[in-house]
Amino acid sequence: MNSSLRADLADGYRKIDVLRLTDLSSGNISARTDDGMLISPSGATAEQIGPKSFVFVGADGRWDDALTPSSEWQMHLAIYRACDEAAAIVHTHSDSCVALASLRRPLPGFTYVVGFFGGTDVPCIPYSTFGSEALADDAASALRDRTACLMANHGMIVRGTSLTSAIDDAHRLEVLCRQYLLAMQVGDPVLLTDEEWQDFFAQKDILGYGQLD
Ligand code: 13P
Ligand code: ZN
Repeated sequence: MNSSLRADLADGYRKIDVLRLTDLSSGNISARTDDGMLISPSGATAEQIGPKSFVFVGADGRWDDALTPSSEWQMHLAIYRACDEAAAIVHTHSDSCVALASLRRPLPGFTYVVGFFGGTDVPCIPYSTFGSEALADDAASALRDRTACLMANHGMIVRGTSLTSAIDDAHRLEVLCRQYLLAMQVGDPVLLTDEEWQDFFAQKDILGYGQLD
């Protein structure tokens, strides 16, 4: 069942590894199904993962599989519950996201590209133990009106309307955090003003940009 989605997820997991968004078994990915989600198994690595590795977790939070779902299954499920438009989710410990999240700071609006995540910054949710309900709750509320957030002392999580867009946005957020950290080495980046943001969101509605799906 869901064999093409399983194949896409395995390809997606390998892609985030190729993009250097994950190392070893950090991070996890999932996609919504009719009655729950398919999620990478706990301890997954790009070398070992395949279509059959993905664990089905029902909307009720139950599974019946020889493999254990990612320790962050509650976070993924909470986001699918909170956002109808979420079709896929990517969580990574990518270098620049972790570096900024370790400062417990949001990514501010230092370039207009930040606005493609749905607001004038990318928020950073408080630190909670990995795999906890508190982390799941905080991530789900942050992703109600944004498509991504940083996770203090941990990493990032992004939702997409497709697996491709979720992976692209995970990549985009890592690039933005890297650029922001680079700018901060020289000085305090100038942030877009309220007026500039208003113009940006108006233009985005008119032109679209950066989204093929
Ligand atoms: P899993 O291997 O259980 O998915 O955990 C990795 C992780 O990123 C935990 O936050
Ligand atoms: Zn993690």
